[in-house]
Amino acid sequence: MARYTGAVCKLCRRERMKLFLKGPKCDTMRCPVERKPYPPGQHGRGRIRESEYLLQLREKQKARRIYGLLERQFRNLYELATKQPGITGENLLRMLEQRLDNVVFRANFAASRSQARQFVRHGHVTVNGKKVTVPSYQVRKGDVVEIGQKSRQMIVLRHNLDTLDRVVPAWLDVTSSDFRATVHDLPLREQIDVPVREQLIVELYSK
Ligand code: SF4
Repeated sequence: MARYTGAVCKLCRRERMKLFLKGPKCDTMRCPVERKPYPPGQHGRGRIRESEYLLQLREKQKARRIYGLLERQFRNLYELATKQPGITGENLLRMLEQRLDNVVFRANFAASRSQARQFVRHGHVTVNGKKVTVPSYQVRKGDVVEIGQKSRQMIVLRHNLDTLDRVVPAWLDVTSSDFRATVHDLPLREQIDVPVREQLIVELYSK
């Protein structure tokens, strides 16, 4: 599966905000957004002409970067969201939250979504007792996501559980001692704390 391999901090600087893509470094003064709060590149500090299209594009790019998806994957998810009943933008955000790598991140098993994706890819995660190695796997209500028995001794995992104190969303029940997260409901819009105006994404793709 293709993935972005460039400098991730530049993505935050492009969006002019912290997207928290790197785990612990994001909360320190080493974060480049703190030191260089302007877009990267030669013209980063130049004047940018605002337009409706630019606003929509930036909002879409921000969402895509937060969840670590390439354009094709994001667009495919959007197409699925349009086919579901309800508000397309909310459907899109909910499906992004339901990704298995996001659940591993939200449960504080991983310091970042990219680390969560690696845990899934390397076979450290099970869903309802079966190993799943597809980060885009959509969890459903009632699913039980666990760290596999052999993987529970991983130092990085134990370190994460000891140090990460992000608030677990209300739609997840996490029992750290059992390395288990249960999806007891699907996320509602107000439970998704990403700084994204999803309506602008819908407007962009609807053109
Ligand atoms: Fe973004 Fe984290 Fe890098 Fe800061 S340290 S620019 S928040 S990825």
